[in-house]
Amino acid sequence: MEVRNCKQCGRLFNYLGGVPLCPACKDALEDKFMQTKEFVRDNPGATIQMVSEENDVSIPQIRQWIREERLEFSKDSPVGIECEMCGANIRTGRFCEACKSRMQNEFSHAYAKPKAEPQPERKLQRDRDKMRFI
Ligand SMILES: [Zn+2]
Ligand SMILES: [Zn+2]
Repeated sequence: MEVRNCKQCGRLFNYLGGVPLCPACKDALEDKFMQTKEFVRDNPGATIQMVSEENDVSIPQIRQWIREERLEFSKDSPVGIECEMCGANIRTGRFCEACKSRMQNEFSHAYAKPKAEPQPERKLQRDRDKMRFI
């Protein structure tokens, strides 16, 4: 078992992976998250600074929740983070819709490549067409 210092309060605790926070600080952070989430829901027009100040949460922490897709802002919210690919403004996650669909396309293309090779069926079809003309 690994023992570490809590990133928040400095206490030693048994580290189990993930964020290096002791159980007490993890619970406190979870409470903060619920509070922040509620605040965002009740104040859809709040800026990231307001969310940070009103809930006493750091902006990097809020951004991290957004990246983790735990915290989502409404369409009209001024809050956003940058797409990691192109820097476009997004509401949640890591990439904008355009980059997401481009990545998906690239993925499915790479995946579909073996199928794009000449297929024997096509030749058969041609032979059959020829037969019809004979
Ligand atoms: Zn702690
Ligand atoms: Zn993008």
